[in-house]
Amino acid sequence: MRVATCPGCGKQLKAENDEELLKQGRQHAQEAHADQNLSDDQIKAIVAQSAHDE
Ligand SMILES: [Zn+2]
Repeated sequence: MRVATCPGCGKQLKAENDEELLKQGRQHAQEAHADQNLSDDQIKAIVAQSAHDE
């Protein structure tokens, strides 16, 4: 599993691969951090930075 931790709230996102992880990151940003107006590039950077195998 690929795991990333949201820097905004500490929530752990888990997915089978990086592509799915990015989808979860986008969804989480919309649901939990819509007020921050994160761009797709920012979400990609955050996911890429914190993603690791578990
Ligand atoms: Zn969050």
